[in-house]
Amino acid sequence: MKIICIGRNYVAHILELKNEMPSEPVFFMKPWSSLLRNNKPFSIPAWSKDLHHEIELVLRICRNGKNISRETAGEYFREIGLGIDFTARDVQNLLSAKGLPWEKSKAFDQSAVLGTSFLHKDEFRGTEPVEFRLDINGRTVQQGNSGLMVFDFADIIVHISKYVTLKTGDLVYTGTPAGVGPVIPGDHLEGYIGKTRLLNFRVR
Ligand code: ZN
Repeated sequence: MKIICIGRNYVAHILELKNEMPSEPVFFMKPWSSLLRNNKPFSIPAWSKDLHHEIELVLRICRNGKNISRETAGEYFREIGLGIDFTARDVQNLLSAKGLPWEKSKAFDQSAVLGTSFLHKDEFRGTEPVEFRLDINGRTVQQGNSGLMVFDFADIIVHISKYVTLKTGDLVYTGTPAGVGPVIPGDHLEGYIGKTRLLNFRVR
């Protein structure tokens, strides 16, 4: 199984990193070995001095598909979860400046934090957009909702599946809203969709 992440999907976040507005979804991948689950502590790697949190809604793919149409895209996921795309921003900036792939800064061990459970998408029927946020040490640092995405869930599934076969169990991290910033040892991170807490772990 694989983890596919969308970059630059919230206008305010694109502006805070001074990136260009994309004309189509930007995606990259993390290996399955990058997953950190069950609220286990996250260890900042020794080689980064600027390790950023990116809270994101996560889709769990429920059937295999390639070249998926916009009309059927909703049939490919039933559950929405919450995750953090941890990013070594200092390393990413160095790689980007040289035009090199981002992998080292995005795909390292523990870089894909996944919440303790998923919510069925029917729970949001009529109450969309899906609201989510990240609190650090009791203070909200990032909040967003699916209505603020540049490319919605269907756009994302259509675009990825044009290039890569989606398989049951794959995870799609759908991009982060504004407010990304560094974590330091001792930080306590809590992530919510609506009032449901799905992430609750510490940094060391
Ligand atoms: Zn991200």
